[in-house]
Amino acid sequence: MNAPSPGLTVSRARLAELSLDPADAAEWEELRQLGHLMVDEMLDYLRTVRERPVWQPVPADVRARLSGPAPRTPTPAADVYEEFKRDVLPYPTGNTHPRFWGWVIGTGTPLAMLADMLASGMNPQVAEFDDAPAVVENQVIGWLVELLGLPAGTHGLLVSGGSMANFVGLAVARNARAGFDVREEGLKAAPQLTVYASSETHSSVRKAVELLGLGHEALRTIPVTADYTIDLKALRDALSRDKAAGVRPICIVGNAGTVNTGATDDLRALARIAREDNLWFHVDGAFGALAALVPDLTPLVAGLAEADSVAFDLHKWLYMPYEVGCTLVRDQAAHRATFNVTPAYLASFDRGIAAGGFPFAERGVQLSRGFRALKVWMSFKTHGVDVFSQLIHQNVRQAHYLAGLVTKHPRLELLAPAPLNVVCFRFVVPGASDEALNALNREILLRIQESGLAIPSQTMLNGKFALRVAITNHRSRREDFDLLVQAVVETGSALRVR
Ligand SMILES: *Cc1c(COP(=O)(O)O)cnc(C)c1O
Repeated sequence: MNAPSPGLTVSRARLAELSLDPADAAEWEELRQLGHLMVDEMLDYLRTVRERPVWQPVPADVRARLSGPAPRTPTPAADVYEEFKRDVLPYPTGNTHPRFWGWVIGTGTPLAMLADMLASGMNPQVAEFDDAPAVVENQVIGWLVELLGLPAGTHGLLVSGGSMANFVGLAVARNARAGFDVREEGLKAAPQLTVYASSETHSSVRKAVELLGLGHEALRTIPVTADYTIDLKALRDALSRDKAAGVRPICIVGNAGTVNTGATDDLRALARIAREDNLWFHVDGAFGALAALVPDLTPLVAGLAEADSVAFDLHKWLYMPYEVGCTLVRDQAAHRATFNVTPAYLASFDRGIAAGGFPFAERGVQLSRGFRALKVWMSFKTHGVDVFSQLIHQNVRQAHYLAGLVTKHPRLELLAPAPLNVVCFRFVVPGASDEALNALNREILLRIQESGLAIPSQTMLNGKFALRVAITNHRSRREDFDLLVQAVVETGSALRVR
C-alpha cells in the first residue's frame, strides 16, 4: 500500500467529525437534566390540564415568531425548549382537556407519552426485521384480534390512523374481488368496480375509493333509515340494478359508529348480503369497533367478526397519543398479495437480521415504519385491558347522561338517537324557523369554543345544525356535561333570535 498522502495525514490530525450527540460527559449531563425538566413539566402540564381553557387561538405575535427562515446556526436546547413553552405548548388543539368533545379526537395518556419517548429513543425501523419491536407489534395485533373477537388467523398492521386503515382494507378488497389482476393490468379495460356504503360513511372511504382508481362514482351512496343506519333494502336494490347493468360490485363497507351520530349498521345483515354475492365486507369501525371490548355493548357490533377487513383507530377510543390506527384482515394471502413487492435490496435469507423478509412492508403502503406498537403494549400491560373496556363504557354512559339532560330540558332538542358516544342536539326557541335556529346554534357553538369552556363540534342532520359531542375522552366527568348544557342554555338565551 502507498503511504498516505500528506493531505490525508493533516486531515486525520484535525479530525473532528460531526455528530448530533452531546460532545462530552458534561454535555450529556446537561441534556439529561433538560430531559428530566421536560418530563417533570409535561407531567405537571397533564396533571393540571383541567385548570386551563380547552382552547385559545394562536395570537398574531406568536404566529409571527413561528414564521421566518430555517435556523442555520445552533441555539442551546434549553432556550429552544423555552420557546416551545412560550409559543407552542399554550396553543394546543385542546384534546387533552376533559371538555374536548369535537370531531372524534382522542385524549392521549401520560404513560403512553413516556412510551413514545422510549420508542423514539430505541428508534427501530419496524418493517419486520428479526427484532423485538416487530415481535411486540405482532403481539399487539394479536391482542386486538382477540379483543375485537375476530377469528383466529386474522392479522394486520398498525397504521397512521383510520384513513390509512380504510385505504389498506379497501386496497385488499379491490384486488381480491376485481376478478382480474389489478396489480398487473390496472383498471384500463376493466368493467366498472363498485363499492357500497351508506350516506353516513366517513369521507376517508371516499378518498380511498378515489385513490384506488375506482372513481367517486363507483362509491354507491346508499340512503339511511331514521336511525342513520344503512337501508338494507336500498342496498339490495342498488346491487341488483348494478349487476343487471353489467357493473361489477366488489365490496360493501359497513359502519361501526358513524361519525355524525355514532350509528352502527346491521353488520350481520351486511355480512350476509356480501356473502351471497361473494363481495368483500369491510367495516369502518374507527371508534365504534371498540364497543366490542365492552360486554354490554357487543350486541351493537354483532357481525363485526364476519368482516373480511376491519379498520379502526387506537388514537381515538383507546386514548392513545397520535398516531396509531389498525387494519385487520382475515385472509392473509389476499392481504399480502396486494402489497408484496420484493426487489433485490429487500431480499431475505434464512439467517441474519432480515430473515423472514419484511412482512409489515408487505401488508401496507409504508416500508419504513415507527414503533407505534410500544405505547399500546405498555398501556395495555400497565392499565390492563379491562380499564379500557370500563372507560369506553363510561363514555357511552356519559353520552346517555348528556342525552338525558338534553331530553329533559325544554329549550334543548335531541336531533338523533345516541346509541353510542355521540350526542347531537340544539338549542330551540318556540316558533323559530330551522333557518333561524341554525344560525343561532352556530353562534352558540362558536361562542362556547371561543370561551375556552368546552369544544363540541357541529354537523348538519336533515337540514338542522347540530351541536355535536363525541366522547372519546378518559378525563371527562359527568359534571363536565352539566357545565356544557348550562353554557348552551345561557348562551342561547342571551342571544336574540332574529
Ligand atoms: C376519524 C374517522 C376516520 C378517519 O380516521 P383518522 O384516524 O382520522 O384517519 C374514519 N372513519 C370514521 C368513522 C372516523 O371517525
